[in-house]
Amino acid sequence: MKRITVIGCGVVGAAIAYELSLCQGTQVTVIDRAAPAQGSTAAALGVGMAVISHKVKGRNWRLRERSLKRYQTLIPELESLTGRSIQHNTQGILSLCFAAEELPRWRSLQAIRHKQGYELELWEPERVGDRCPHISTARVVAGIYSPQDFQVNPTDLTLALVAGAQANGAEFHFGEPVVGFDGAEVEAVPQEGRCCTAVHTPNQSLATDAIVISAGLGTLPFTQTLHQPTPIGPVLGQALRLHLDKPLGNLDFQPVVNGSDVHLVPLGDGDYWVGATVEFPLETSLEDALAMQPEADRLDEVLAGAIAYCPALAAGTITQRWSGLRPRPQGQAAPVIQLLTGYSNIWLATGHYRNGVLLAPATALAVRDELERQS
Ligand SMILES: Cc1cc2nc3c(=O)[nH]c(=O)nc-3n(C[C@H](O)[C@H](O)[C@H](O)COP(=O)(O)OP(=O)(O)OC[C@H]3O[C@@H](n4cnc5c(N)ncnc54)[C@H](O)[C@@H]3O)c2cc1C
Repeated sequence: MKRITVIGCGVVGAAIAYELSLCQGTQVTVIDRAAPAQGSTAAALGVGMAVISHKVKGRNWRLRERSLKRYQTLIPELESLTGRSIQHNTQGILSLCFAAEELPRWRSLQAIRHKQGYELELWEPERVGDRCPHISTARVVAGIYSPQDFQVNPTDLTLALVAGAQANGAEFHFGEPVVGFDGAEVEAVPQEGRCCTAVHTPNQSLATDAIVISAGLGTLPFTQTLHQPTPIGPVLGQALRLHLDKPLGNLDFQPVVNGSDVHLVPLGDGDYWVGATVEFPLETSLEDALAMQPEADRLDEVLAGAIAYCPALAAGTITQRWSGLRPRPQGQAAPVIQLLTGYSNIWLATGHYRNGVLLAPATALAVRDELERQS
């Protein structure tokens, strides 16, 4: 039996735990200092921009495409295994284009996606108004409709992944920080192929054959302890929930709408999420950056951006405001999915920045593939 310890139970760690729990001969243990689906995952809107993203090749596109495919089976599979319902929206994403000079880029993307086997529709403003009467088309040059993209509630998903992994025999320890490793402190510069044999929390030591660090913004302290610092810095995001007495637009067509990088996410019963801000820290030290506070004005600007393309939102009541910190790698591309240099059994699966919900299933599959390749 191969013992694998996953550190961190946001959407990424939970997806890894679930995917590994499906593998024969594997015992999965997950440790998180908090409850599941806290951290960045608690703040996310769960919009999955795969086909509609401008990434068309390379690692980033392959991850998006693999996630998109896995999501088609993952949600029904988890709902049936756990009996939990996962709020999700399969009516696609409609992105509003306000500048005629951007149209050639969208047409080129449409042609590439067509060759890749995906649909991307370019709608005239009249069609946007017809399908989505709540959208003001005054400034709209075109609507780019991606029927295969989706949205999923990140907390529902993470809790279902945990329940699914538990049903498959995985163990979870919540409210316990990981504070150290066996095999890390012997010398400052690790030689190739070093192994960590145990993970320590204040309460226990867990013997392990492999470790996956999916701790988001908690990654740097671990990698410092392991003498391979991997900086992951915060980028703050704010969002809000808004209630309208009457749902917007056509009740039988409620896609996620995006205009000027502001998402409008329908949740049903007249509820919507609107967001999110993208705020880089001014502070240079990671400690100070982690303590950065949201500015109310920035969220007001995002709401104004949504009202500009969907005026009916102005009559809504704000029922919740929140913020979270996205884990963004420094000095390398997001996400970081790789063996920790110098070690043969420690994997990093972290730094998913703006796309952790979208990329969690593909990350889990990549980690599973690598662990299987090694054994
Ligand atoms: C406002 C906002 C909107 C977003 N919208 C989207 C979106 O629409 N689509 C999308 O794909 N992504 C979105 N994101 C990004 C997404 O939230 C992140 O990429 C994703 O949640 C990262 O997941 P994670 O599991 O890596 O990290 P986290 O959710 O932060 O989880 C890391 C976990 O590690 C644990 N941990 C850390 N240190 C330790 C330790 N020492 N011991 C034990 N446990 C530890 C933490 O407690 C935490 O539970 C959004 C983010 C924000 C802030």
